[in-house]
Amino acid sequence: MSRALPYGRHYVDDDDIQAVVEVLRHGWLTQGPKIAEFEQAIADYVGAKYAVAVSNGTAALHLACIAADIGKGDVVVTSPNTFVASASSALCVGATPQFSDIDAETLNMDTAALAARCTELGRVRAIVPVHFGGLPCDMPEIRKIADAAQAVVIEDAAHALGATYADGSRVGCCAYSEMTVFSFHPVKIMTTGEGGIITTNEEKLYRGLLRLRSHGITKGNDPYLHRDLAYTDGEPNMWYYEMQEVGLNYRITDIQCALGISQLRKLPRFLERRRELALQYDRMFVEVRHIRPGQPTGRERSAHHLYVVRIDFDAIGRSRNAFMRALKESSILSQVHYIPVHTHPFFRRNGHERDRFPVMEDYYGQALSLPLFYGLSDQEQRYVVGRIKELLGCG
Ligand SMILES: *Cc1c(COP(=O)(O)O)cnc(C)c1O
Repeated sequence: MSRALPYGRHYVDDDDIQAVVEVLRHGWLTQGPKIAEFEQAIADYVGAKYAVAVSNGTAALHLACIAADIGKGDVVVTSPNTFVASASSALCVGATPQFSDIDAETLNMDTAALAARCTELGRVRAIVPVHFGGLPCDMPEIRKIADAAQAVVIEDAAHALGATYADGSRVGCCAYSEMTVFSFHPVKIMTTGEGGIITTNEEKLYRGLLRLRSHGITKGNDPYLHRDLAYTDGEPNMWYYEMQEVGLNYRITDIQCALGISQLRKLPRFLERRRELALQYDRMFVEVRHIRPGQPTGRERSAHHLYVVRIDFDAIGRSRNAFMRALKESSILSQVHYIPVHTHPFFRRNGHERDRFPVMEDYYGQALSLPLFYGLSDQEQRYVVGRIKELLGCG
């Protein structure tokens, strides 16, 4: 192969480049109209009332936690099969993340285990389900569990832009959650370079998120607290604004949003090709021993951020590391999603040393993510599968 094949890669074309050049030549660089335009386009696409775009997906999770008033002493339950940000955002507001085991077929949080975990933990302030690999969680069931625990739900949909729930509605519509968070990192379904967005149907959360994104300062028609300082003869003072709470600078730029608007137009194509590639992988591995798809169901609903396989490394007599190194020699850059979050040194040190999630541990021992991105050609995919079959001893 003439180029390296990573597990994921962005796709940027001349339209995207033109859109960015256009703002650089004629537009605002930040705090301009492209931001609201991008937010409206995403809100319309997912079917939510509001969207607030921010500097990255982790910032989006952090702001969602602040807006939901999660703080010291609160418990937030998430999946161990995720990127660390799903849990560290709770830590950023002083809350305690806890984990709950996954389901062996979907690799998402197991709802029976989640219900039991919430009972065991007693007081749960929030649940952060992660739509792993782009496959949506069982949200009606998670909403029920959250309601029983009087917890809020913040969906980590960093993998799942364009995915649909069992009822056909799109992830991000917030039919089952207070807020949903997406990421536009280049490895995700579409990109703004760095970027993230929070969708919600609640006006109060929306207004809070807008303020928190920009220093906790009043926005638009937010009511002023110091009316005596805000007005002269009944007219609002032109220079006036108020910092009403602690916020951050988590703003996204107009440059990034111009790219986002342009990328969003291509999203249906991106999703279609990802699904096609996933189905092709399924077919090509069907008769192959010691390898099987990690998420065998939900092809019609997933956004296919990842193509994960389970390989029985014990049976083939080759370690995962040796397998990955051999693939790398053929320019195939596989990856593992994810190291169980609770096993990272920080979490070990902070009370998770005794956490046991057997389904997660079993999956982690076999997991491997193969190249899956819009620009991957059929020929490149066949090459990947051919090399893997050789390494499995059935070339
Ligand atoms: C990528 C990702 C994030 C964080 O998004 P960034 O934009 O990289 O900050 C959060 N959660 C999950 C599951 C992710 O994959």
